[in-house]
Amino acid sequence: MIPTSFDYVRAKSLKDALKAMGKSTKVIAGGHSLLPLLRFRLAQPETLVDIGQLRELKGIKRAGGGVKIGAATTYRELLESTELKALYPLIGEVTEHIGDLQVRNAGTIGGGLAHADPAADMPPVMLVLDATFVLQSKGGKRSVAARKFFKGPFTTAMKPTELLTEIQLPAPAKGAGTGGAGGAYASFEQAASGYALVGAAALITVAKGMITRADLAFTGLADTPFLAPAAAKLVGTQGQAELIAEVAAASVAGVEANDDIHASAAYRTHLGMVAARRALAQALSRAG
Ligand SMILES: Cc1cc2nc3c(=O)[nH]c(=O)nc-3n(C[C@H](O)[C@H](O)[C@H](O)COP(=O)(O)OP(=O)(O)OC[C@H]3O[C@@H](n4cnc5c(N)ncnc54)[C@H](O)[C@@H]3O)c2cc1C
Repeated sequence: MIPTSFDYVRAKSLKDALKAMGKSTKVIAGGHSLLPLLRFRLAQPETLVDIGQLRELKGIKRAGGGVKIGAATTYRELLESTELKALYPLIGEVTEHIGDLQVRNAGTIGGGLAHADPAADMPPVMLVLDATFVLQSKGGKRSVAARKFFKGPFTTAMKPTELLTEIQLPAPAKGAGTGGAGGAYASFEQAASGYALVGAAALITVAKGMITRADLAFTGLADTPFLAPAAAKLVGTQGQAELIAEVAAASVAGVEANDDIHASAAYRTHLGMVAARRALAQALSRAG
């Protein structure tokens, strides 16, 4: 199918883009998720606002011990940042597995997060890293915690007139030896598309041999990415294998798992447990 007709605005500045935003507009960044939506007429905007080339929305900057990432920064640019990889190795590890070279060359971190595909790889990483998203409209700016951003399949806390402009990451835990964080991502992919059937991201901080913080988040398992509160049971322990297995099982228990042609709910739940166990164990081995 071909898309319905629409006006096209190539924004020259962020101000331009915000001015063009309205209830019947759609933003386009890399276009990898939006173009199929347009072609299937699942999205029928009156105006398309192109932000893909906006320098103001690109780049990775250090800020207060953490990092600010422009929403139109491509996956490739994330991978090229040695600083980002050193500070948040989990981001590099996950980004390498997103799509293929073409997707990573044009797809943007902001586009992927705004699209809120329930099987996307980056959202659980943003949850465990406790990222904050900056949303901007003509009327001003607000910040929303990643943990409050994903509301349902392809649904976020963003209003139609808002743009996601920046992703803010808090300072990572101190380096190895002084008590540091270890992160890991484990997923099972759908063979044809490479999308996660289930993925689990874990971030564990260890000080003096004891776990001081443990976060675990899933993608693909339910209709939105979510944090598993059971991970907190690891705090104050050394993260023994049996305990990790218990936490992994508790994390998927009672979750209303997705059920589709790719995997039944029961199979997804099982994969979720295995992914959680692997991610937690690997994160622990990298912490401290
Ligand atoms: C072949 C293929 C394989 C893929 N494999 C994977 C995979 O393995 N794992 C994975 O996680 N993802 C995968 N993806 C999805 C990919 O990550 C997304 O398509 C990409 O990140 C979307 O970014 P984009 O810049 O292209 O967004 P666009 O397609 O331009 O936009 C996507 C949506 O977000 C909105 N949007 C974009 N930017 C903003 C912004 N700054 N503010 C507000 N709204 C915005 C758009 O209006 C649209 O609704 C794959 C995609 C393809 C095509």
